[in-house]
Amino acid sequence: MPTPIGHALGGIAAGAMILRDPTTITSVARRRLSILATFALLGMLADIDFLVFSPHRHATHSLVVGGLIGIMGMAVLPGKPLIWMSGSAAYLSHVFLDWLGADTVEPIGIMALWPFDEGHYQAPISLFLPVCRQYWLLDCWLSIGYAVSYELLIVGPFALAAVLLNRRWR
Ligand SMILES: [Zn+2]
Repeated sequence: MPTPIGHALGGIAAGAMILRDPTTITSVARRRLSILATFALLGMLADIDFLVFSPHRHATHSLVVGGLIGIMGMAVLPGKPLIWMSGSAAYLSHVFLDWLGADTVEPIGIMALWPFDEGHYQAPISLFLPVCRQYWLLDCWLSIGYAVSYELLIVGPFALAAVLLNRRWR
């Protein structure tokens, strides 16, 4: 499973790829940085269950919840479908990246189809390194640093491209 940094980059990549015209949300956020920060937060949001629920990677890692984020956007910002979709995409990037990540804690995988299916899903090939949780060990922090570097190399270019390829963001 990627670190919060990898998830933040994933949220930026997915959200900025869809929201081609940031001027549509000037009433919400007047600066580009705050829009990107919102995408980054949405990309990390699913792991809030780490603080509240056990086991981790349950309902918040569901495609249904990603859809609900868009529906909540409809209520908050009516008539702005690109914002709804970009918010959902930023959130769902988390589900996608976790699905691609190496999981070492039982139950393995994410409940992507909850509440329709309580199975845990994981990609057959892990793209991201497992994240060490033995924070009291120096080796753990070295491992986390290596995992973050790896995520910057894999997800970082997508986030950068999503922002830079859109000329309206400049
Ligand atoms: Zn997660």
